[in-house]
Amino acid sequence: MSSLRGRGLRDRVAAEVDAAAGDLVDLSHRIHANPETAFEEVRASTWLAARLEAGGFDVELGTYGLPTSFRADAGKSGPRVVLCAEYDALPGIGHACGHNVIGACAVGAGLALAAGAEEAGLRVTVLGTPAEEDLGGKRMLVERGAFEKADACLMVHPAPVDIRQTPGLALADLVVTVRGRASHAALSSGSGGNALRALVGVHVALSEMELTPYERCNGVILHGGEVPNVVPEETSSRWFLRARNLEELESFVARVEEEVERSVAAAGCAVEFSSRFPPYREMKTNSVLAERYEAHVRSLGRELVPQSLIGAESATSTDQGNVSQVVPSIHPMIGIDSGPVLPHQPGFAAAAVTESADRAVLDGAKALAMTALDVAMVDGLLEQVREEFETTDSTGNRVSEQD
Ligand SMILES: [Zn+2]
Ligand SMILES: [Zn+2]
Repeated sequence: MSSLRGRGLRDRVAAEVDAAAGDLVDLSHRIHANPETAFEEVRASTWLAARLEAGGFDVELGTYGLPTSFRADAGKSGPRVVLCAEYDALPGIGHACGHNVIGACAVGAGLALAAGAEEAGLRVTVLGTPAEEDLGGKRMLVERGAFEKADACLMVHPAPVDIRQTPGLALADLVVTVRGRASHAALSSGSGGNALRALVGVHVALSEMELTPYERCNGVILHGGEVPNVVPEETSSRWFLRARNLEELESFVARVEEEVERSVAAAGCAVEFSSRFPPYREMKTNSVLAERYEAHVRSLGRELVPQSLIGAESATSTDQGNVSQVVPSIHPMIGIDSGPVLPHQPGFAAAAVTESADRAVLDGAKALAMTALDVAMVDGLLEQVREEFETTDSTGNRVSEQD
């Protein structure tokens, strides 16, 4: 690119984000104050889509058969960069994952890019992606073709600190239903067939399983019975199981199911397995894009945790993993100074509307927008992005360097 032309556009894109700052922070706070869980995000999706429409985007609400998704397009030629806007909350603890920040970042980057799209030679799509915390909206969007014409997909997630990339684990949903014999609690509590006792046995057995550094096994009881004077006939719990990649996840799920079957049989009950959604895939971060993002976010005065300090213990899961398997993608973390408080803790919800979180909305939007500009304007960059995508495995490791 002519670096002058690029620099001028970068400065203007940053200025566009600043010009929209009031609206972006307002969107972040409004979504935060009105938490909506998976596929219930009616207000959040409408508010974000409306702001994009006012900014000149062609907007469609409820795309790809998902009523709380949206798609907003701008630009007529050049590579297409998709910005994912998440906005779902968690049951009971609201925006404890800070997805209000994600939605506002994506809209801010989109608005800024739309202003320079023609000049940069860039097509930009802001995709409203519901149900990240549960059920996997992005997986459905991938299956339904939302990313078919995309060259790159960018998003940023709030966290205690800034991190270029963390391992994203494949995740499976497993519902365990235990069936025993209903009976009078006082007359039969010592005999077999107590479905609650069997289910508690499952929780103990799984909590004692030996795990590799990338495996996770976390469950909650969905149904434990009705009243204490009837031994319940049926109980159930729900588990999220995680592993480094889909292949390891499949064998991990099989190991867990065997353990469950053993434990339930010992309690004289029967078990059935089901699942509420197909797996989230492991994250395949495109390091060419991630390094551009890092350079831009640093230029805004942010410090990132050295990548050498990021290991298995920093791993979580995201349905952006599914996107990353079909389009070169990133999922960096932007710091909101939550201190020792981590996502999914109530304190993180409080941290997601502080001054620091508001600054993250603006910095995240700028860094995403500048990264998108690079895709269109830096000579050879898109080829490098594609080359890496083609020559790395599903977790983003060079195929030849696999362990
Ligand atoms: Zn979360
Ligand atoms: Zn999240």
